[in-house]
Amino acid sequence: MLVNNCHIVKLLGMNYIYILEIGDVNDLDFDKLTEDLDGIFDLKVKKVGPIEKPDFAFDKIRKQYDAKKVLNDVCQISFLNSEKMLGILDRDLFAEGYNFIFGQAESPGRCCIVSTFRLDPRNVNKKFNSDLFYERVLKEAIHELGHNFGLSHCPGKSCPMYFSNNLTDTDFKGMRLCVKCEKLLEMSK
Ligand SMILES: [Zn+2]
Ligand SMILES: [Zn+2]
Repeated sequence: MLVNNCHIVKLLGMNYIYILEIGDVNDLDFDKLTEDLDGIFDLKVKKVGPIEKPDFAFDKIRKQYDAKKVLNDVCQISFLNSEKMLGILDRDLFAEGYNFIFGQAESPGRCCIVSTFRLDPRNVNKKFNSDLFYERVLKEAIHELGHNFGLSHCPGKSCPMYFSNNLTDTDFKGMRLCVKCEKLLEMSK
């Protein structure tokens, strides 16, 4: 008899969100991120990588990395028990029509990416602050994973699902989903 292992894994509640480090991402507390995302999405979270730097996605004219190419690459990676794949890289990402983007996600879907580049105070001529940097990455990780679970942008400015145009928006957001988004997340699982 043929057995679909994915379904067995799902029934046993063993599905994971994988955090995939793309190239070396320095100064980010991956252990804390793993723990926090576990608490928010109520799924096991596992950090893997680093894999190679995404040189293939570099755009020589824009001197930035093409988010679509990086996301496609992350979507190719799959483990038997991977419910979601969150790629994290420290390169500056762009998408058509935007000067830069903080991240991109399949919505709904299985994979997403977050760039730490614009979230790092040093890249906007500010002093490094590890707590601030970490919080920004956590908020954007929740945002992109939220899209994977089918959540849309939220009008609540303090909800991580609010669309950040800039760092001021990101810094205003909280680190927990609003009640409405939390309910939608529960329904989507
Ligand atoms: Zn979004
Ligand atoms: Zn919300």
